[in-house]
Amino acid sequence: MNIPSLIQQQRAFYYENATKSLSFRLKQLKRLKKVIEQNEKNIINALQQDLHKSEFESYSTEIGFLYAEVNKTIKELKEWMKPEKVKTPTSHIGSKSYIYKDPYGVSLIIAPWNYPFQLAIAPAIGAIAGGNTIVLKPSELTPNVSALIKQMIEETFDTSYFAVVEGGVEVSQELLDQPFDFIFFTGSVPVGKIVMEKAAQHLTPHVLELGGKSPVIVDETAKIELAAKRIAWGKFTNAGQTCIAPDYVYVHENVKQTFLTKLKEAVAALYGSNPIGNGDYTHIVNEKHFNRLTSYLTNGTLVSGGKSNQNNLVIEPTILENVDWNEPIMQDEIFGPILPVLSYSSIDDVINQVRSKPKPLALYFFSEDEKSHQKIIQQLSFGGGSINDTLFHIANPNLPFGGVGPSGIGSYHGKASFDAFTHEKSMLHQTTKYDISIRYPNTKFGLSLI
Ligand code: NAD
Repeated sequence: MNIPSLIQQQRAFYYENATKSLSFRLKQLKRLKKVIEQNEKNIINALQQDLHKSEFESYSTEIGFLYAEVNKTIKELKEWMKPEKVKTPTSHIGSKSYIYKDPYGVSLIIAPWNYPFQLAIAPAIGAIAGGNTIVLKPSELTPNVSALIKQMIEETFDTSYFAVVEGGVEVSQELLDQPFDFIFFTGSVPVGKIVMEKAAQHLTPHVLELGGKSPVIVDETAKIELAAKRIAWGKFTNAGQTCIAPDYVYVHENVKQTFLTKLKEAVAALYGSNPIGNGDYTHIVNEKHFNRLTSYLTNGTLVSGGKSNQNNLVIEPTILENVDWNEPIMQDEIFGPILPVLSYSSIDDVINQVRSKPKPLALYFFSEDEKSHQKIIQQLSFGGGSINDTLFHIANPNLPFGGVGPSGIGSYHGKASFDAFTHEKSMLHQTTKYDISIRYPNTKFGLSLI
């Protein structure tokens, strides 16, 4: 497919104004939902082939998530689209002020491989709701899901409205060279910087959903067994290949040993005594990531796990302790099933340590002390998170999801997706019944009827 002519076709279609009515948007959202329903089995199979994802995880973290998003959007879109009337100061007497929710136009969505279906389609729900046309590029690292997305979208929509362009870095860069009206990117921090540089060429508005090292802090007052269970689930779901997965744990030194014991028990309860052979445990996406992750296994000391199988790219849920901040595992986002556990005696030291690193995408704090909850929320900057849980904040469509600075720019989910894909066009509607002279130089204050 010729990329520049695809963009031209979409722009021409956009200027026909067809994408803007509520009825058109609702129709497309319902068609999208229907094609997902019809392909549930195919989606689960493709996720199994690309990532060895279990049916349960595929449904709960990809398909079910999308149904919740699309249902909410269909239900509430009419309300979101209404121009918002705002107050007008008395100096503007006679006029009325509105914020119109204006579509951007032709939008580009670039998706990653870790939740390859959900992270491609969820932004598209926002793009449709916002009244835009869409060019979607799925990740080349999950080729079965990518091909299925292309097939599903192209049998449902005309490419002048919604097209899928498959490919890797070169295709992605060619797309980014085009004059899109909006870019929505989900992926790594280094590629996020490339996307932002490309967007700067055309001053294209954009959302960047990036990653980073998301900390977990467990204080002395926390319910340790529950904390361990929720952390193990959040870390080892999708074999740790989750943008908001707990990256490392800081646990108070007085409860560290109990925490490690409970964490090991929680992992065993989730994946059994032989996780490598567990059919419901996700594999690593490719050999490059497998080799990167297994090289971390020599960092710190091993508490549990540590086995891997190169043939089918699986790494056991692994817990490490005594890791040093200078070791490779503490330099970059881990993005795999290895969890370093560090200990602390002063929460202020933890706050200083987190502040010294790039602002995280997520942060999780386990504590029964409400004053400490507020301290963490107020003193640390991060995208979002949960108190006494992990990952769960992402599944509330009423909470905008995104990072801050190095972990991302902008947010989406629920109404925030609609907001992300629309421009707030501020309009003053002035009266022509009279004219107040105060604004004109060299005229006396007065009101002249017209
Ligand atoms: P990635 O940045 O390597 O790739 C993402 C997309 O960008 C892919 O479609 C890829 O083809 C494209 N791409 C890769 N290199 C490019 C380049 N040089 N120029 C232009 N395009 C390029 O990310 P990934 O490995 O697919 O995903 C993992 C990362 O994504 C992790 O850092 C993770 O934290 C992050 N992530 C963030 C979120 C979020 O919602 N914030 C969700 C999932 C993953």
